[in-house]
Amino acid sequence: MLPVVEIDELLQQWALNNSPIIDFTVNNVLIAIGLDRSFYYETFNYLISKSPYYLTPYKILFCPNNHKGETFPLNEYIDQEEFFTCHNCGEEYQADPDRTFVAFRFNEDYRQQLKKKIGQVA
Ligand SMILES: [Zn+2]
Repeated sequence: MLPVVEIDELLQQWALNNSPIIDFTVNNVLIAIGLDRSFYYETFNYLISKSPYYLTPYKILFCPNNHKGETFPLNEYIDQEEFFTCHNCGEEYQADPDRTFVAFRFNEDYRQQLKKKIGQVA
């Protein structure tokens, strides 16, 4: 069974942490907890179940040089003919399923509630 208690604790740690991780992927969670990729879909579904209260899932495109690019709501259709310009390297690229990833972002209200509960001043 998926270690949901551990995942919840990890998410709380990340949400309380002001700096690095406010956006993360399923792989970030798998690595942090030490789960192998056989847990990918279960973990994905669990994180989706936290939406919209804790998390907002979104799609992110990467340019051919692996820079983070455009983001879209999870259910939004991405026109594969459309060109995007990388803000980092200036390369023009199109959406490619191999360079499209799902990421999750903490909702600010959730982070604030959590900080209040833990006693950190918001
Ligand atoms: Zn780029």
